[in-house]
Amino acid sequence: MTKTRILVTGGAGFIGSHYVRTLLGPDGPPGVGVTVLDKLTHAANTNNLDDVRHAPGFSFVRGDICDPHLVGRLVAAHDQVVHFAAESPAGGSLQGVDGFIHTNVLGTQILLDAALRSGLHTFIHISSDHVYGSIRAGSWPETDPLRPNSPYSASKAASDLMALAYHRTHGLDVRVTRCSSNYGHHQSPEKVIPFFITGLLEGRAVPLYGNGLNIRDWIHIDDHVRGIELVRTGGRPGEVYNIGAGNELSHRELAGLLLRSCGADWGMVRFVEDREGHDRRYSVDFTKIRRELAFAPRKDLATGLAETVDWYRTHRSWWDPLLQRALRGGGDHEWIRS
Ligand code: NAD
Repeated sequence: MTKTRILVTGGAGFIGSHYVRTLLGPDGPPGVGVTVLDKLTHAANTNNLDDVRHAPGFSFVRGDICDPHLVGRLVAAHDQVVHFAAESPAGGSLQGVDGFIHTNVLGTQILLDAALRSGLHTFIHISSDHVYGSIRAGSWPETDPLRPNSPYSASKAASDLMALAYHRTHGLDVRVTRCSSNYGHHQSPEKVIPFFITGLLEGRAVPLYGNGLNIRDWIHIDDHVRGIELVRTGGRPGEVYNIGAGNELSHRELAGLLLRSCGADWGMVRFVEDREGHDRRYSVDFTKIRRELAFAPRKDLATGLAETVDWYRTHRSWWDPLLQRALRGGGDHEWIRS
């Protein structure tokens, strides 16, 4: 069978590695070969690829999406690109804007140029709900204007618009996904849900910003990855697809759920000063992907969070070295810095 050769950028990160494990796992599509291109920044974890390292059709290249020669060579040898690589997180973007511009904007443009030159079949650009800004009421449909607030979100919005511009200007088959906040196993302990879980499991007090009323829209990583696959296999060129699961929670509500799951009480939470540029509320309307591609989230929040707590409880050897490294270094992430 002829293989579809997929280049996955950022495939050693949280979502990219889960996408690769899913593609090459027992329930993955037949006839797919995957090359991961990843620079292995602090956010990468090559252990996340252990399950597929020896899978037929898998290869790994350590490299930078901002290297035009490497990118040109790799893109020319593939049929599709699924582009996850990005410099994150949002909380660090006030400190390191250069990195966001370099990887998120320039790196994406280098990939798009290579795609155009090589006649690549399909380019899936993984964007984010952060690009819309913050919304008081209702949810964003894909047609809403982008009003990003933080430098990170602005860099993601720039790459998102650049990807769509390559479709409009050159006819490249670009499809963009904008997903809400992800949670699940294998997420760095620097991120809010794992940071809370690992802290509570260790008996360490966890920080809550401001009044804890900032709202995020949560989706389990399995559902996000399934949404991306639907877009890759059935989406339309030049279209944007929001991916969400309708799980809005304030950080205070989230903390309450995690305290209960970990058998801890509010004495384990310390309220800290709110951080700069903290968007109040995110909420995506995912009607389009539901109607067009029959997407439906399968993991309800209670089950997803319980499974996630369980995973961290039983995978201390995975997260403890990462957490120690982050705590030692002071961490560049919002939750560690607080
Ligand atoms: P992550 O930080 O866990 O992983 C990013 C990966 O990209 C890392 O492996 C890193 O080494 C790699 N990378 C960074 N710069 C690179 C470069 N210049 N060249 C090659 N590789 C590079 O990120 P994630 O949480 O898995 O997010 C992946 C994508 O999904 C991002 O584009 C992000 O904006 C988007 N997204 C994330 C979420 C979320 O909740 N995490 C939600 C919506 C969208």
